[in-house]
Amino acid sequence: MKVTQAEIIISAVSEKQYPGEQIPEFALAGRSNVGKSSFINKMIQRKNLARTSSKPGKTQTLNFYKINDAFHFVDVPGYGYAKVSKKEREKWGHMLEEYFTKRKQLRAALLVTDIRHAPTKDDCIMYDFLLHYELPIIVIATKLDKIPKGKRQAHLKRTRETLGMRGEDPIIPFSSETGEGKDEAWRLLESYM
Ligand code: GDP
Repeated sequence: MKVTQAEIIISAVSEKQYPGEQIPEFALAGRSNVGKSSFINKMIQRKNLARTSSKPGKTQTLNFYKINDAFHFVDVPGYGYAKVSKKEREKWGHMLEEYFTKRKQLRAALLVTDIRHAPTKDDCIMYDFLLHYELPIIVIATKLDKIPKGKRQAHLKRTRETLGMRGEDPIIPFSSETGEGKDEAWRLLESYM
C-alpha cells in the first residue's frame, strides 16, 4: 500500500473515545522499547508520527492512527516495565480487555517481538491474552538487522516455539532500519482488509 495520509486521530482510554468510523483496524502490542513505534513509522514512512511508547508515570493510552482513510493502526501501550504499580497494571489490563472485547472492526493483532531474544514471559502472557479474542495474530519479529543472516531461521523457530504459536499464525522477520519485511507485512495486512 502506498501511504499518502497518516494522522493520529485520538489517544483513548475508554470505549466512548474510540473513533466511530467503521474502517478495518489492526492493533499493535509489544514490550516497551521493543520497536513498536519504529515499526509503525517504517510502515507508513513517517519519521516520527508514532512516538516511543509510554514511559512509567505517563498516561497509558490506546493511540489510534488513521492511514489513507482506509484503516486504523491502534498502538497499544507497551508492557514489561518493572516499575509500574499494581494499580496501573490493573488499569492497563482493563483498558486492553475492553478494547479487544468491544472492537468489532478489529481484523488482526500484531505482536511485536525482538528477534534477537527468546520472547519474554510478558510476551507469552500477551500472546495468550490475544488468543482469547479469536483473531489472526501476526508476530512481527523486529530488529532483524541485528542478527546474522545465518541465524534467522533458528531465531524465528525459537520465537514460534516459545510463544507456542498456532500453526496458521504468520511470523514476519522485520527491520525498521533496512525496511526488510515491510512488503510482506503490507501484503498480509491488505489480505485482512
Ligand atoms: P517502542 O517503545 O516499542 O515504541 O520502541 P521504539 O520504536 O521507540 O524503539 C526502541 C529502540 O529500538 C529505538 O532506539 C529504536 O531506534 C530501536 N529500534 C527499533 N526497531 C529497530 C530495528 O528494526 N533495528 C534496529 N537496529 N533498531 C531498532
